[in-house]
Amino acid sequence: MKNLNRRDFFKSAALGVSLTVLGTSKAKGSDKMLSDDRLGILVDTDVCVGCRHCEWACRVAHNLPTPDLDNYSDNSVFKEYRRPDAGSLTVVNKFENEKNPLLPIHVKVQCMHCERPACVSACIVGALTKGDDGSVVWDDDKCIGCRYCMVACPFQIPTYDYDRSIDPHIRKCDLCTDRRKNDELPACVNICPNEALLFGKRDAVLAVAKTRVKRKSDVYVNHIYGEHEVGGTSWMYIARKSFDKLNMPHLAANPAPGISESIQHGIFAYFVPPVTLYALLGTIMWITKRRSGDDDELISDEEEKGKGGKL
Ligand code: SF4
Ligand code: SF4
Ligand code: SF4
Repeated sequence: MKNLNRRDFFKSAALGVSLTVLGTSKAKGSDKMLSDDRLGILVDTDVCVGCRHCEWACRVAHNLPTPDLDNYSDNSVFKEYRRPDAGSLTVVNKFENEKNPLLPIHVKVQCMHCERPACVSACIVGALTKGDDGSVVWDDDKCIGCRYCMVACPFQIPTYDYDRSIDPHIRKCDLCTDRRKNDELPACVNICPNEALLFGKRDAVLAVAKTRVKRKSDVYVNHIYGEHEVGGTSWMYIARKSFDKLNMPHLAANPAPGISESIQHGIFAYFVPPVTLYALLGTIMWITKRRSGDDDELISDEEEKGKGGKL
């Protein structure tokens, strides 16, 4: 319901807003070279058993209040589609497997750590940054609580810790920065009992994903979600069902940051009021989704030819 309202707001607002600001400034930053060593995680939804241990481990790793692990066997949570929030940086949802109803499909959701993150581009004070390791992290000290990142994110990921009403902070997956500093695996990867999550350098992870899809072409759809979407993401998925049926947003291969950066720079040039900015950022989402139809053909062609990833 929350998402629907937001989307409706954007659509209405976008109609009433001039796009002249879009041309006020040349986009910067989205052409930044990405490190060859950046990280990636593959979610093999065909291996995930929906135990939700990853949810538990993520909460523990981030000092969030969490029930005992035993409580995670309660499957009633799957009745409703859930999204990450300030208390759960990742959640697992269940989907029907028409071919084998006894083996439902489970899909873990969290920040995708986009290669060209719209949230970083939209942040007017540089509180969000993309690191050489591929992670998109934030600085609580810099964040002014404008929430433009929430509006810009094509996956609707950043949430706010509203319990801290005076000083709310962004909450989202941080790719377990602190654990990795201690040479530990991300908590969700570490705990996964079925090895449904594969962590490593993005190129290597992508290569594994391609191999699995090719070897089991009768099982997986020929699509690695996150390889191309919005310019690529650190988290990638393979599945036996098309991703639009798994509630993964249908997104174009072109990243949105160039546009949101133009808007961001326009704010400073012309003092665009916040309500106008929200409408403009809504327009970005609208444009991104509209373009997805055009880019589908391109993605399919590349997959057929086996192009798109680097070895
Ligand atoms: S998924 Fe959203 S919050 Fe995460 S990096 Fe991408 S744009 Fe930012
Ligand atoms: S990488 Fe860390 S922060 Fe992200 S979902 Fe996994 S456990 Fe949570
Ligand atoms: S811990 Fe692994 S198997 Fe269990 S729900 Fe998470 S990703 Fe799936």
